[in-house]
Amino acid sequence: MKVKVIVVGGGAAGLVAAINAVRGNADVTILEKGNRVGRKILATGNGRCNLTNTDIDLSYYHGKHPEFVYGPLSRLDYYGTVDFFESLGIAIKIEDGGKVYPASLQASSVLDVLRYEAESLGVEVICDADVVNIDKSNKFKITTRDGEQFVCDKVILATGGKASPNLGSDGSGYRLAQGLGHTIVEPFPSLVQLKLKSDFLKQIQGVKFDGTAQIVVDGKVKRQEAGEILFTDYGISGPPIMQLSRTAIESLKNGEKVFIRVIIIDDIPFNELDEIITKRLSIGKDKTIAFNFVGFLNKRLIPVVLKAAGITDINKKSGEISNKDRKSIVSVLKDWRFAVIGHNNWGFAQVTAGGVNVDEIDGRSMESKIVPGLYFAGEMVDIDGDCGGFNLQWAWSSGFVAGENAAID
Ligand SMILES: Cc1cc2nc3c(=O)[nH]c(=O)nc-3n(C[C@H](O)[C@H](O)[C@H](O)COP(=O)(O)OP(=O)(O)OC[C@H]3O[C@@H](n4cnc5c(N)ncnc54)[C@H](O)[C@@H]3O)c2cc1C
Repeated sequence: MKVKVIVVGGGAAGLVAAINAVRGNADVTILEKGNRVGRKILATGNGRCNLTNTDIDLSYYHGKHPEFVYGPLSRLDYYGTVDFFESLGIAIKIEDGGKVYPASLQASSVLDVLRYEAESLGVEVICDADVVNIDKSNKFKITTRDGEQFVCDKVILATGGKASPNLGSDGSGYRLAQGLGHTIVEPFPSLVQLKLKSDFLKQIQGVKFDGTAQIVVDGKVKRQEAGEILFTDYGISGPPIMQLSRTAIESLKNGEKVFIRVIIIDDIPFNELDEIITKRLSIGKDKTIAFNFVGFLNKRLIPVVLKAAGITDINKKSGEISNKDRKSIVSVLKDWRFAVIGHNNWGFAQVTAGGVNVDEIDGRSMESKIVPGLYFAGEMVDIDGDCGGFNLQWAWSSGFVAGENAAID
């Protein structure tokens, strides 16, 4: 008799779990709440699917025990993942920062090959099946919102977290895990935009620049990232900010005062920048201070940077500026601080931090230590990664291990 495995959730983790379970000779069904599987995969990497990273390392993962990723990531590592996808027909393309994409640069091709593999191996896919309850006695009994019931030997929970609930993951999996006796590390959004306290946001919303941002807590820099930064009407966005958001939100949750230090000009040291500005102001001493920065700074930033530096009359002649005022301008360009007061909601978050407590899961098999025959995979577990392909890698690896082990009689 084949082992009957039901995978709850047909996302990245669930699809790979199902494929690997059926390869292990199990009889596999996916129950997916939405009307199709893998909707989130289509949205990844701006529709291009950054499916892994050449530099998979523990330092890119977070959670109460990030070292938990070792088990699954050593079973299906970067090379194993590339082999897995190449065997399904995906040629890969490596871009800056080791980000790996399908050569087609289409996320849909990743989903297509996963669906093809699952279906050709005989995985049964049942959509519009919103699982609301799981009971375990001798076997597992799964009930959907429509009252349909399914019985199986093993269950793989792969329902995702709470990020981007429009793509299916609304946190319902946590209730299923809790119902079976598991505890949940309180989820919070990660890879999300930050809200700032500032009177200037209305004037600078939409301004983009290449710079550096640092999260400063209690005067200490906790993390920094460089790249394209965007001011918005509520705060700040862009890839470096998304990357920093976990650190900022975790500190806010701990009741700490969190600041973001924006370094608009990050490639010129303070003294050199001061010399450059001194020269510009002296050459153009008859121009207004504001006009002296045209061609050097984004025009919409100029009046705001000058105001932030405490210069009330931005139209006074450059020749009249004091050394103290000039140094204040340089300080703003090198160290502009904003209080972080929150973040955008789950609808904007790419990933969930928190989830099923990894103390209750065996990292070698992804099996529950509380309920034998129950397995976990993907974002619903208390593991989250940085931007760059690390979250999908976690979904593939944990799904692979859960599927492989669930298939064993
Ligand atoms: C916009 C966006 C871009 C991203 N880009 C990248 C990227 O380029 N690279 C990267 O590594 N990561 C990226 N991520 C993160 C990555 O997509 C996720 O970490 C990963 O998809 C998680 O996979 P999962 O299978 O665990 O969960 P999900 O993909 O969320 O799948 C969970 C599935 O379970 C279903 N489900 C939920 N509850 C139930 C229920 N009760 N019953 C039945 N089914 C249920 C859902 O409908 C869903 O299909 C991105 C995320 C977003 C939102």
